[in-house]
Order: sequence, then C-alpha cells, then structure tokens
Amino acid sequence: MNLAHWLWQQAQAHPGRPALYSGDALLSDYAGLAQRVRQRAGTLAARGVAPGDRVVLWAANDPAYLVSLYALWWLGAVAVPVNAKLHPVEARWIADHAEAGLVLTDRRADWPADWVGDILALNAVDDRSDNAPQRPVRVAPDALAWLFYTSGTTGKPKGVMLSHATLVQMTLCFATDVEPLSADDRMLYAAPMSHGAGLYALAAVRAGAGHVVPESRGFDAGEIMDLAARHGNLVLFAAPTMVKRLVQAAEPRGYRGEGIKSIIYGGGPMYAADIDAALRAFGPRFAQIYGQGECPMTITALPRDLVADTDHPDAARRRVSVGYAQAAVEIAIMDPAGDECAPGETGEICVRGPLVMSGYWRNPQATAQAIRDGWLWTGDLGHLDAGGFLFLTDRSKDVIISGGTNIYPREVEDVLLEHPDLREVSVIGAFDDDWGEVVVACVVAKGPLQAADLDAFCTARMARFKRPKRYLFLPDLPKNAYGKVLKTELRQIAGEAVRG
Ligand code: ATP
Repeated sequence: MNLAHWLWQQAQAHPGRPALYSGDALLSDYAGLAQRVRQRAGTLAARGVAPGDRVVLWAANDPAYLVSLYALWWLGAVAVPVNAKLHPVEARWIADHAEAGLVLTDRRADWPADWVGDILALNAVDDRSDNAPQRPVRVAPDALAWLFYTSGTTGKPKGVMLSHATLVQMTLCFATDVEPLSADDRMLYAAPMSHGAGLYALAAVRAGAGHVVPESRGFDAGEIMDLAARHGNLVLFAAPTMVKRLVQAAEPRGYRGEGIKSIIYGGGPMYAADIDAALRAFGPRFAQIYGQGECPMTITALPRDLVADTDHPDAARRRVSVGYAQAAVEIAIMDPAGDECAPGETGEICVRGPLVMSGYWRNPQATAQAIRDGWLWTGDLGHLDAGGFLFLTDRSKDVIISGGTNIYPREVEDVLLEHPDLREVSVIGAFDDDWGEVVVACVVAKGPLQAADLDAFCTARMARFKRPKRYLFLPDLPKNAYGKVLKTELRQIAGEAVRG
C-alpha cells in the first residue's frame, strides 16, 4: 500500500489526462506529474529522506506543494503540514516536536537560524536527480502518512497520526458520501492545502481529475469565479466564511455559480441564514462535511441533494444538521459516564472505525484521554435525531455554565446573527462571582448599534437565562490561521473588559 500508488496508476492508465494547473495554465498531465513527483522524490532521497522520516511542509498553496507531498509519500516518508501563516516560532515548535529532519518551505528566510536540520526551498529544488525508485515504495497499511498538528484552538497543538490506510478510507468515504468525482472534474484549492482540504487531492488523483491551484495561492472570490468560467466542473472546499465572501462577491457580478460543480463547506458552523443565502445565490451546489483532524474531514456528510432539499417535510430542519454518518464511521452520543444517550438527548459525539487517528504523536496521555474503549471522544456536543441526522450543539469546552445551568453559545449566536446590523458574533462565558460564568456576546457591528438594541432583540427571542449579560463591540474577532474564532483569546479580552 502507498497513497502515491494511485498517482503512479493514473500515469500508467491515462498519461495524457490533464493533471496540474496553476490558475488556468496547464503545468502537467498525469504522466508529467508522476515524473515530477519521482524526480523530487529523487532529490529528497539524495538528502537522506527515508521511509518513516518526518518532513515539514511549511508553505502556502502552490503546485510544488502537491508535487512535494506526493514525493514524500513516494518514498514512504511522513508529511508534517504546517500552515504557512504560522509564526516561525510556532512552525519551529512543530518541527521539533515531530522530530523532523527536513523542512520544505516557501519562507526559507523566516526559518529560525539556529535550526540544525536540513532546509529546502519549495520552489528552488533541483529536481533533475533521478535516484528515486520507479514506483512508490511499499509501506504497511498502518504506516504514518500525514502528521497533522491541531490548530491549537484548545491548547498546544497535538500531532494527529494518520496512516495510509486511514487516508484511503477517507478518500473512499469522500467518493461515496460527499462528492463522487470524475476525470472531467477539477479540484480547486482555495483553502490551505496544509489543512484537511489538501487531502482532497487524494480523491482527485484517484478519479484522474485535474488539480487547480489558484494563482493568488489563496482565497480570492473574483479569481474563483473566473476560474470556474474557464475550467467548469470545479469542486472546492470552503470554510463557512469563504462561502459567505464568495456569495457576497458574486451578487454584483451577476454570477450564479456557473462552472462550479460543488462547494463543500465545513470546519465550523454555517448558520441557517448563510446556507439559505448561498442556495439562493448558486442553487444546489453545496455539500457539507463535519469532521476533525482526529477523524480526518469525515464524520458526517450532508450531500448536495439534502442541502438543497425542499420536498421532505423535515428538509429545513435537516439542512441545519451536519448530516448522517459517513460510510466507514460509527457514531454514538455518550453521557459523561460513557453510557449511550437516547435519540434527541445531547451528549458528547463519539466515533469509531478505520478513520479514527492512530493517536497523538508522542503523547500517550492525550491519546488515552481522546480514545477510550475504541471510541474517539470528539469534544463536540450534539444529538442524533430519530432518523440518524446529527445536530451539533457546541464544543464541550465552550459550554457556559451559569448558575448551574448549561448554555450553548451556538444557540445564542444563531439568534444574534439574525440581527441585520451584525456582521459577526461569538458568544463566550466570562467569570462571575455570583453566577460562576455569565454570557458575553462579542460582536462586530455593520453600522451604529447599541447594546440595548441587541438586548431588546434577544429579549424577544430567547429565554432570559441565555441572554448575554454584556455585549463587547470589537472591530474584528481574533481568528487562527484557518479563520476559526479563537475563543480562548476572546475569553481573555472579555475578562479584561469585565474587570476593567
Ligand atoms: P483544536 O483541535 O486544536 O481545537 P480545531 O478546532 O481547529 O483545533 P479541527 O480539527 O481543525 O480542530 O476542527 C474540527 C472542529 O471543527 C470539529 O471538532 C467541530 O467542532 C468543528 N466543525 C467541523 N466541521 C463542522 C461543521 N460542519 N459544522 C460545525 N462545526 C464543525
């Protein structure tokens, strides 16, 4: 087994199929891509990279990213993807923790000078070297392929260990439950390839589809619309904020989603109003996934037909679920004692099956805490309805306990986001002498807005005990490199504001 085997196979079976694009410029067909990958593997082998070695990829999206990733797998080495926007000190922390001997990067000048390991510029590699094996090396199914550090919204990053076999399962689930791809499709990388979205390359290679790396190397709504017009059949992963931006940018251009086959959203909550706006703008082009690094991108899916469904009597309610369990995943909702909850009851979402990580790298304690009796405890709270649809309530650590009562921030956020003058909101708990915690809403307003307006809005729509005790108006919400709100930082900001 080896994930790179699918690339080799495509190059044999369909050498002339278009494989890799920068924007709309074709760089390689499948034969050419496999050749480039093999040459880069030769370069890496010449630097001493051997099966099982960890190599850091600290770079923004780039065609060379894909080539390097496959070159590492070709040799049986382990990719350690690090978001390009991380601070060098943070990236270095990961490299040290993973005991990586080599860093491939497009930020070579920024890398800490005291690093004793090897370092190579992503785009300046001399790839003429031809000393790689003709075919990807054979590795054991449980051999490590991708050592993915969690983004640290819940503490220090932990290295999630994902094997070749796990990523094969992920790819099969993607094809059956999210988006079956064909050779005519094009996978566009708008989100960082260093995150799970980069792993969608596997599904595209397996199908012989094309890979499109936008020239902006990131998310540029205008460019995506242009590329959709030129390529057609685009499939892309977009975080909810990206979907919102794309829809907003489309309206003035009169763009209605032409050339886009599917936008897969997930990674964070997509609010009902935003899904409705997206469907109105682009039609039935959206599928949702719910997953986490520890069960890569794959726990549940809400496929395109269900996101856009209007026939089923329960369609609107299901649309705000995260869908049903993907083919290789089993879900149970557990109470804190580890007993399964009844349908409709809220508890922690636990999953098991071949998609669950092998554990956290060099962290048996955290592994034992996350995987108990074969179940991965996701840290997310939710419930299953009688039809098997999963509804997320919140992350367990974000629940606010005020006067002994549980308050789920997402419920409060959902209501506040209906206010037409609010751009963004994040609800957190702040320490309080009387109540233990009180509800604080951190808001970004679109126009002039007073706390009293928001309070009146909430009074008309939610139980008294859930209403925010305080509104904190901010110019922006702090977010991590993947665009997720950093509630830990918000709690600090709110704590200071409450004290001050
Ligand atoms: P850390 O593990 O360090 O806190 P993180 O939260 O960014 O980092 P990821 O694995 O990137 O970890 O994100 C997974 C989390 O994102 C899930 O556990 C869930 O809370 C949230 N999430 C993922 N998909 C969805 C979705 N479709 N709807 C709502 N939330 C989602």
